Amino acid sequence: MKKNILIIGGGPAGLEAAASLKHSGNNIILIEKSHQLGGHLARWDRLFPDGIRAREVLDKMIASLDGVNYFTDTDIAQINILDRSYSVILSNGISVLADAVLMATGFDLFDARKKEEYGYGIYDQVITNADLEDWFRTREDSRIDHPKRIGFVHCVGSRDEKSGCRACSKVCCATAVKQACEIKAEFPDAQVYCFYMDLRMFGKHYEDLYLKAQKEYGIRFIRGRVSEVAEQIDKTLQVKAEDTLSSKPLKVTLDLLVLMSGIRPSQNLEPVRKALQLAKDDDGFINERDAVYELQKTSMPGLFVAGAVTGPKTLPDTLAEARAAALQILSYLADNDKKPAK
Ligand SMILES: Cc1cc2nc3c(=O)[nH]c(=O)nc-3n(C[C@H](O)[C@H](O)[C@H](O)COP(=O)(O)OP(=O)(O)OC[C@H]3O[C@@H](n4cnc5c(N)ncnc54)[C@H](O)[C@@H]3O)c2cc1C
Ligand code: SF4
Repeated sequence: MKKNILIIGGGPAGLEAAASLKHSGNNIILIEKSHQLGGHLARWDRLFPDGIRAREVLDKMIASLDGVNYFTDTDIAQINILDRSYSVILSNGISVLADAVLMATGFDLFDARKKEEYGYGIYDQVITNADLEDWFRTREDSRIDHPKRIGFVHCVGSRDEKSGCRACSKVCCATAVKQACEIKAEFPDAQVYCFYMDLRMFGKHYEDLYLKAQKEYGIRFIRGRVSEVAEQIDKTLQVKAEDTLSSKPLKVTLDLLVLMSGIRPSQNLEPVRKALQLAKDDDGFINERDAVYELQKTSMPGLFVAGAVTGPKTLPDTLAEARAAALQILSYLADNDKKPAK
């Protein structure tokens, strides 16, 4: 019998899971809270490590949604757990009796204004990684006007107990190195600095990107946390840091400072999480059933997770999780069919 599978979130995880499930003979319903599909991927320009265009990847994903019922501008109004299903009322008034639910609600970007010492929202010349992606995509941002000295600050709102997140956001070292190379290619006369605590370039070809940044683009990597940013009378920024390799304090004057805002749990998720009594980890992400073998399952039967809803993920990891979740949903539904009705 045809089953209803509800996917919450139309970002990469939700889209990939929907595409993987659409030929299963079930009714796939995907809802996206915002007015467009794609989640954060819709905001990025080129992807690390090899510079592929985010739009090309997203267009392919959206094209493969053929056969899936999807609704944008739609959220969960109410969700209740029944014996072997979930009774859901959507914000567009449609009711769904879902035999399985996939939560693919993703993440929020850390609000850089909370790190006041870096001056985001105070000084014009301080922007975030997402602002820079917007500029690469649209070329519309008057703050980026032929800068001659550009700095990138790693770990903004990540690995930082004071900001409420001890975890590493995983993607921002590679994003910083990618963006540093891109901006140097755009402004070849500029000096580009990366202020980092540790460089976490763990993925395939990431090390090549790091070597290219140093050898080909001459990016200067400074190991040290930025302690203070101040705007000077001529609108340049004075950045104070400590070079922890030489143990010397450092002052650099910059025309543009880019903050690598980290990955935080999505606030949109909270009402659903509370309604379903799902446990979260210390940083506020949803807890999987275990951290090794049952990554796509939650403590609730029939309720699955994929992508950044459980913590920072790269895109390939997100897509792999979405495909794994699709398989686990089908296996769960098949097992349920074999159980006698209560
Ligand atoms: C600055 C930056 C650059 C990055 N660049 C790269 C890169 O170059 N390469 C790479 O591999 N990875 C990159 N990533 C990581 C990549 O963005 C993530 O892996 C990916 O976006 C995770 O997809 P997701 O679907 O889990 O979450 P998201 O992209 O956050 O999508 C979740 C979707 O769910 C929706 N949603 C949330 N709550 C609800 C609700 N209650 N009801 C309905 N819909 C809801 C949201 O509106 C959103 O559309 C980058 C990340 C950052 C922060
Ligand atoms: S990936 Fe790099 S910049 Fe991002 S939190 Fe981890 S160490 Fe910091």
